[in-house]
Amino acid sequence: MYDVRLDGVSKSFGEVEAVRNVSLAVDAGNFLSLLGPSGCGKTTLLRMLAGFVRPGRGEVYIRNQMVNDVPPFRRNVGMVFQNYALFPHLTVAENVGYGLVARKISRPERERRVEEALALVHLMNFAGRYPRQLSGGQQQRVALARAIVIRPAVLLLDEPLGSLDRKLRERMQVELRQLQRTLGITTIFVTHDQEEALSMSDLVGVMNGGRLEQLGTPAEIYERPATTFVADFVGTSNRLDGTVVGLDGEESVVQVAETRQHLRIPRRAGDAPGVPVSIMVRPEYVELTARGGPGDDAPLFGEVRFSAYLGASVRYEVELGEGASLVSLRPRGIDGGGYACGDRVGVRIAPECCYRLAGEPRRRASGAAGVESDDAIPESFANGPVGEAGSDEGGSGVGESRRSGGLVPRIGDEPA
Ligand code: ATP
Repeated sequence: MYDVRLDGVSKSFGEVEAVRNVSLAVDAGNFLSLLGPSGCGKTTLLRMLAGFVRPGRGEVYIRNQMVNDVPPFRRNVGMVFQNYALFPHLTVAENVGYGLVARKISRPERERRVEEALALVHLMNFAGRYPRQLSGGQQQRVALARAIVIRPAVLLLDEPLGSLDRKLRERMQVELRQLQRTLGITTIFVTHDQEEALSMSDLVGVMNGGRLEQLGTPAEIYERPATTFVADFVGTSNRLDGTVVGLDGEESVVQVAETRQHLRIPRRAGDAPGVPVSIMVRPEYVELTARGGPGDDAPLFGEVRFSAYLGASVRYEVELGEGASLVSLRPRGIDGGGYACGDRVGVRIAPECCYRLAGEPRRRASGAAGVESDDAIPESFANGPVGEAGSDEGGSGVGESRRSGGLVPRIGDEPA
């Protein structure tokens, strides 16, 4: 059963099309994150669900009721705003009970429910305090208690953890998810933080320019991105462009760019010598081996150009030559303890970890190995883990990360 359904919902503010023809449905008890860059329409979508913004087109349903014309306070939704929006002149208990007063709930029942809500967010001893006497995390909990105390059908959260420091944010992510599961409350959570969205949600909706690019489970979004934008926005990717030079059973052998190095990928109907391909690979699937050391039979090789110590892992940028490069993310201690800049390394990528971009690679006039795929749709190989789309001015290899010295986690073109 759906608790929330949007049918072809659009909203413009003057010239700005904030939300474009979005349709989605959220099952009862599910946690949906709306993920996307700033200005992509997440908040507008949430506000249409809450009733603060009226759709220009389309229909909003909450528990099978079309609510386009229903005002916010009659919608049976609880909302937590990014800045919490607590009333400064009311105590914690009064803030939490505010919605119950507005709903004319009797005083004894009100007190019981406020107490219950404060217990759920571990703030029993703070009932008499004012918001200014609370930390950011405590204020966030009050806002949450205020939203759930009315027992809404749907909980709407607009970047509620955005202003918390990293540690508190992580703790609140866990608490929020536990609370949501305990209450079984259908939740829609807006964030621009991909890790937060992937780690907390049953479903993730990735938005771009007002459109819902993909709605899927976290694994689907990460492993089978539906568009280049999704592939680029969620996680880090490498892109290799090349040409099929041979077929070997179930595999196609691809020459990477102009390097004369070869990579095996799952064979696809239509593959034949001369067919151009674009391949995406996640950095965690790029294995490195020491050149000349044991196991030095890696099909690709290159030189470490950059390494960044990230604590639990090390991020390497490996130049394959002819403008082709790869980012590899290795757990620290694996691959013989790490590599230094200038080290020659073998590079191994399992065929099933390669993810082919659909569409004809397009060569750029300026780049020897360069191709673009602004609108290419990644297609996974059968059942394989996948990489993600990314493209850059040089074509083969990494985009933003290479250009910026290897520390920027996003790679690729801006969407068209
Ligand atoms: P952020 O992550 O920065 O909060 P968002 O994805 O939530 O961004 P929205 O706040 O939904 O994005 O805004 C989408 C677009 O609509 C933006 O271009 C924004 O400037 C515009 N917009 C939103 N609200 C209004 C408004 N009331 N009047 C005019 N334009 C608006």
